[in-house]
Amino acid sequence: MKHVIVIGGGFAGLSASIYLAENNFKVTLLEASPKLGGRAYSIYNQKFDDYFDNGQHILMGCYEETLSFLKKINSTNNIEFQNSLHVPFVEKGGGVVELSTYKKFYPLNLFWGILNYKALSIKERLKVIDFFLDLMCCYSCDLKDKTVRDWLECKRQSENTIKSFWEILVVGTLNTTIEKASAEIFSDVLQRIFLSGNKAATIVLPKTSLEKFYLENANRFIKSKNGKINLSERVDRIEIKNNKILKIVTENKSYSDFDFVIMALPEYAVKKIMDNSNININLPEFEYSSILNVNLWLKENPFKEKFYGLIGSQIHWLFNHGKHISLTTSSAENLINLENSEIIRHFCSEIELYFPIFKIEMVIDSKVIKEKRATFIPDIASTEKRKNFNWQLENFLLAGDWTNTGLPATIESAVLSGKIASSQVISSLK
Ligand SMILES: Cc1cc2nc3c(=O)[nH]c(=O)nc-3n(C[C@H](O)[C@H](O)[C@H](O)COP(=O)(O)OP(=O)(O)OC[C@H]3O[C@@H](n4cnc5c(N)ncnc54)[C@H](O)[C@@H]3O)c2cc1C
Repeated sequence: MKHVIVIGGGFAGLSASIYLAENNFKVTLLEASPKLGGRAYSIYNQKFDDYFDNGQHILMGCYEETLSFLKKINSTNNIEFQNSLHVPFVEKGGGVVELSTYKKFYPLNLFWGILNYKALSIKERLKVIDFFLDLMCCYSCDLKDKTVRDWLECKRQSENTIKSFWEILVVGTLNTTIEKASAEIFSDVLQRIFLSGNKAATIVLPKTSLEKFYLENANRFIKSKNGKINLSERVDRIEIKNNKILKIVTENKSYSDFDFVIMALPEYAVKKIMDNSNININLPEFEYSSILNVNLWLKENPFKEKFYGLIGSQIHWLFNHGKHISLTTSSAENLINLENSEIIRHFCSEIELYFPIFKIEMVIDSKVIKEKRATFIPDIASTEKRKNFNWQLENFLLAGDWTNTGLPATIESAVLSGKIASSQVISSLK
């Protein structure tokens, strides 16, 4: 049986391990942290004997690779699919406007949804439809070297449309601002979500914490195929000879009995290993964007919907988990360095302004999670950096959400990267 070492137990490393294990390869997964999950993990709250996540992870109907990965590990029961797109948005004062489509008559149902999105004037809604028609047929603006702001201005979208529609979409899908995001990448994301059938545009939410949703099942799947998962096993350096990795050295031991290595790490973690190994590779360097999450446990829960988008707020989403709610700010550079107590105070007063049914006195516990390097910024330069990077050894491949999948830093990109790497290993070792 051929033996593959996978370094990194995030979505990319788990995806690679699962495809390899399924194809009768012996897998050993080395993960630096005491737990699996990478940037998508759960934390145990002893007080309530329950898990909560480092941040809400949303999938979309267009996440084909992720959905197929979840099916393999038997986690499809742990997710809730929308029948058709439905997003309740809340304005200051508590007014709710919905972005909802019907299941039938795709793609006309999308236009119907936009026509009924009351956060915009009728003229603004027609301009948004015009934007999508342009995306479907041809581009009247050249997108190369343009930011999303340039594109929206070229398509004469008003400041209110930008604030109440486009900014929400851009920050939600790319975790950055319209001033930084590449128009080319955003146009691809829009096509995948809105122009690939009715299911693609629906939001798919885990029903449980990430631990119960996919981590336990992925762990079980790998072990059921005689794979090994070595936690708290940080790879420190590697040794190369004749264009092949000969040895992997961790803090605890070294490994030389393998046929192939997949390194499924963020690019800065790869760089650290290469520096320690005195290997000079020209890794792409990205700018990163943060995500801030505030979890509030409540005496009583006044929220009816599973989630809400907030229009014109520094808090972008409220997710309702029953016993607790989580408040998410993407691209949170302005808030992430504040003291936790200040963040909680600020978030609670903001939620009171948007949801008059909510009172600070309802909060019985709170936890702030700051992810400073949540995702790389898909700016104009990032596409070329990803495309141009090429470093090859005979028995080594890279995976991770930053590799050249063509997708922004998402679960789908991570899972796809793991699948691509494992398919290459399978074809080169068979
Ligand atoms: C708060 C938050 C919310 C998000 N929300 C969404 C969302 O809603 N939808 C979505 O699609 N995406 C979301 N993302 C992005 C998504 O989580 C990531 O794109 C994805 O998890 C990246 O997976 P990965 O395997 O490429 O990398 P990682 O998850 O970073 O995994 C790398 C692993 O390698 C390990 N490691 C590092 N160095 C070493 C070493 N030397 N030796 C061994 N192991 C090492 C790390 O501990 C880690 O476990 C979110 C991210 C964050 C932070």
